[in-house]
Amino acid sequence: MNRPAAYPVVPVTLDLRGFHTPPRSLQECVALWKRLEPELVTVDPLAGPRVRFDLGEEGEVGVWFLAPAAARLPLGPGTPFAIHGVLESAVVRNTCATCRTSGSTTYAPYRCPGCDEGRRVGRVCEAHAVFLDGSLRASCVRHAPVCRCGTAAVAWCSGVRCRSRTAWCETHLCRHPGDASVAYCADCYAERFPECEVQQCSDTGYICCEHRTLAAMKPCGRRVCADHVRRWQVYGRFSRGVALCSRHHRGLGSTSAEDLIDIVLAGTVARANGKRWKSASNRRVQLPRISIIRHILINTRGAVLDMEDIDRLFTSLERRLRGLPSRDVTVSSALDLLARHRTSRREDIERFRQQHVEGHAYFNRMIDALRRAGRWQLADAVEFSDFRPGSGILFVKVPEHLVGLFKGKRRANIQQLEQQVGVSIQVERRG
Ligand SMILES: [Zn+2]
Ligand SMILES: [Zn+2]
Ligand SMILES: [Zn+2]
Ligand SMILES: [Zn+2]
Ligand SMILES: [Zn+2]
Ligand SMILES: [Zn+2]
Repeated sequence: MNRPAAYPVVPVTLDLRGFHTPPRSLQECVALWKRLEPELVTVDPLAGPRVRFDLGEEGEVGVWFLAPAAARLPLGPGTPFAIHGVLESAVVRNTCATCRTSGSTTYAPYRCPGCDEGRRVGRVCEAHAVFLDGSLRASCVRHAPVCRCGTAAVAWCSGVRCRSRTAWCETHLCRHPGDASVAYCADCYAERFPECEVQQCSDTGYICCEHRTLAAMKPCGRRVCADHVRRWQVYGRFSRGVALCSRHHRGLGSTSAEDLIDIVLAGTVARANGKRWKSASNRRVQLPRISIIRHILINTRGAVLDMEDIDRLFTSLERRLRGLPSRDVTVSSALDLLARHRTSRREDIERFRQQHVEGHAYFNRMIDALRRAGRWQLADAVEFSDFRPGSGILFVKVPEHLVGLFKGKRRANIQQLEQQVGVSIQVERRG
């Protein structure tokens, strides 16, 4: 045998465009080749580079010789072939399910979740796609969104509850007051534009009541408009106070000093942990000084407490929190705030003591003046409350039924006393 050691490989391309069941795997491809090869080796590539094999019902398969002149002839059972390429008819992968029912194949760029036909999510073409306001999601005409009431929906709700996943009919939608292209369902609208708690108030209740306690940190949340909100100015005159609804504002007067301090602490913990307050100012959120707390207690409950008493309220609250079996975030940040508060409390107590001494000197002078004027009833009843050296104001406590007598007509008596004592005199405000 003078057969060469190896035949040169014959390169071919398979044309499967006329074959109805193109092979899906390598095995199927090899199986198809084995059916073609016995007949293929009988042809002469030089007679024509493209050969067609009729496979009856299955269609036909073409074999293209890529380099007929280079093939060693004749071909035979030993000829090695190499498939360099396969031609297949183009397949539109994403086809419109609606168009398919009428027998046509259309490219479908959008998904219709309704057309899933038990397989993947179905598709819908440009012409059959339905879009509603409020979202870019599409559907086919047949699966166009329906409102809960059964009528065709016209828009997706952009509210926080629906997040553009629920569509509603025109009757069940409320349009955004400033932008009619944005719509909400009734629940989402109420959440976005809450009503003020005051009946007949047409303003939006954008402000939530911040009343909370250490034991229940979730705030009351009742909605109030900017006009009707009550600010409890616990952080002084220049910082935004705690927002309160009418019910909680009314309740302050009958709340014990311990519970008022609990509310102030809980509110401050919420601010210290809230992002809004952290970014709003670089200063660390702090508890109000006890000099402010003292006035809060006077104004809300009419309770005049010594600085030492107020300090004791804070210390015992701190002790109670330390004694808790477990510490959550609230308790830890409350203890943190209380620890930082301690220094300022000591300062305030010391300052108060000094003012007390100075203030008592003025107070005694005032009592002497009352006695000299023969106003004995007042001299016995009036009590010292506070003295502010900065503004030179002496605060005194006067029994309710004697206030008029103490002040005199158009404050005439007070003015006379002020001249004699040398400071402003004010009756401590209650309630
Ligand atoms: Zn279509
Ligand atoms: Zn559909
Ligand atoms: Zn909604
Ligand atoms: Zn509806
Ligand atoms: Zn209002
Ligand atoms: Zn409230």
